[in-house]
Amino acid sequence: MADHYDVIIIGSGAGGGTLAHTLASSGKRILLLERGDFLPRELENWDPKPVFVDGKYISEDTWYDRDGKGFQPQVHYFVGGATKLYGAALYRLRPGDFGELKHVSGISPAWPLSYDDFEPWYTAAERLYQVHGNGGEDPTEGHRSEPYPWPAVSHEPRIQQISDDLARGGYHPFHAPCGILLNEARRPESTCIRCATCDGYPCLVHAKSDAEVIAVRPLLGRPNVTLLTGAEVTKLETDDPGRTVTGVVVSRDGNREVYTGDIVAVSAGAANSAKLLLNSANDKHPNGLGNGSDQVGRNYMFHNCLAVVALAKEKNDTVFQKTLGINDFYFATKDYQWPMGNIQMIGKSNAEAMRGEQPEKTMFAPNWTLSDVAEHAVDFWLTTEDLPVPENRVRTDSGGNVHLTYSSTNDEEAGRLYGELKKVLNHTGMAAHHVLRKNFYMNMSIPVAGCAHQAGTCRFGTDPATSVLDVNCKAHELDNLYVVDTSFFPSIGAVNPALTAMANALRVGEHLADRMA
Ligand SMILES: Cc1cc2nc3c(=O)[nH]c(=O)nc-3n(C[C@H](O)[C@H](O)[C@H](O)COP(=O)(O)OP(=O)(O)OC[C@H]3O[C@@H](n4cnc5c(N)ncnc54)[C@H](O)[C@@H]3O)c2cc1C
Ligand code: SF4
Repeated sequence: MADHYDVIIIGSGAGGGTLAHTLASSGKRILLLERGDFLPRELENWDPKPVFVDGKYISEDTWYDRDGKGFQPQVHYFVGGATKLYGAALYRLRPGDFGELKHVSGISPAWPLSYDDFEPWYTAAERLYQVHGNGGEDPTEGHRSEPYPWPAVSHEPRIQQISDDLARGGYHPFHAPCGILLNEARRPESTCIRCATCDGYPCLVHAKSDAEVIAVRPLLGRPNVTLLTGAEVTKLETDDPGRTVTGVVVSRDGNREVYTGDIVAVSAGAANSAKLLLNSANDKHPNGLGNGSDQVGRNYMFHNCLAVVALAKEKNDTVFQKTLGINDFYFATKDYQWPMGNIQMIGKSNAEAMRGEQPEKTMFAPNWTLSDVAEHAVDFWLTTEDLPVPENRVRTDSGGNVHLTYSSTNDEEAGRLYGELKKVLNHTGMAAHHVLRKNFYMNMSIPVAGCAHQAGTCRFGTDPATSVLDVNCKAHELDNLYVVDTSFFPSIGAVNPALTAMANALRVGEHLADRMA
């Protein structure tokens, strides 16, 4: 089957779904190719056992680590991509993240564009994804041309108490920016019911601002947009000079199909986009498409993170917990010369999900059942920036499989941030020794598999010798090939990546609309 489109977009997640959404109004013919299907709506969406213990919504892919050992990566092949399972914490990078930042393990390089360049696109992305937040509370945030489109999600009493305790301790807790379709002022009209199974779960009632609900579903039925699910792109073909992608090869229902488009935008997720370009090597691009600089697949990042459960004597009956953040340690402090990162809340632990944990991790409270632990738990997520190291990279073997080599960076900063969390906990009545790791969140028991925040692999820049993409996210070496997922990040900062991918897709979308006008 052959068909020609103005734009072919590969992958329907934060990058690809958002790009399709913004280009749809141009009237151009768009083909959205997604290897997964729609995520089924079923009671199991909100059941911790299938979600966390059985990994029902995690792909069955096998990737290989540096020793050639296979592992199951935390990737999600659905319309909407990883956003179907995400926690919807929709942060902007800090202005300082766009500049060069010195870390204990090296340099986080400057972006070719500044925060000011991104600001209008962040504003547009927050509007599209209906982000709830409260500007001005977090001293590290950049200027905003508009307030958040929705008021911040309120803290429940236990979290409000923690926030008050922190403020009294001299910290600057803020309401975490959040993409859920919650209308707290008019609850009967709210799509979101504010439940406890959000972060890491699909939303059964389609109330999460994920790329399927917000970006792709509204396009269904539009005459100029075609979505093909179960359509895995396996190769990109070029013309003889190697300057133009002329064929997008798809495996669908066991058949090989080829589509053509004036523009091809890859957005398969950082590892899979690199895989596709590497597996598309040809005479003119012997090391992979657009890889004359040997940068494709390199500089893979996914954050140096830690999920912990802090226990207090009092119960934590919070339902929706992901409402608070602390950036007091995001950059250097007077006591420590390096940036440490971000602390935020994550979804509330429950006993069923914790069953996936190693039993010895809970032995310190011998008289407590898992339910007791879960009832008292307050759950934190610590994120330290990891650096774009060339040796941290995606490669493919002769069978086209992903091999991921990764060594962590900034471990000292991450350890220091954990130490700061313990001090923070002392201000909130949660003794430091009552803290345990929460590995089931984001598959963290196998570090390299916890690739939820994957980024890098095709970074954008002005120098073709050190980057894959130009500032419009077009491959330096090809005239019609773009990459619009988190691959383009030259550095990852220490906040969650999705809003930046969405904002960038809107930015690239305007460039493409101008180019095709
Ligand atoms: C449990 C979890 C919690 C998270 N929480 C947050 C959070 O709170 N805040 C935040 O900012 N980020 C969060 N993230 C990360 C966020 O979801 C990702 O950063 C974001 O979705 C990345 O967007 P993307 O477009 O690069 O990739 P994705 O959204 O993963 O989209 C890639 C798409 O490409 C498709 N695809 C892959 N290969 C092919 C192929 N060969 N052919 C066709 N299609 C293909 C995939 O099926 C997928 O739909 C979380 C992720 C997870 C897993
Ligand atoms: S909190 Fe709201 S958005 Fe999240 S899963 Fe529940 S209903 Fe869906």
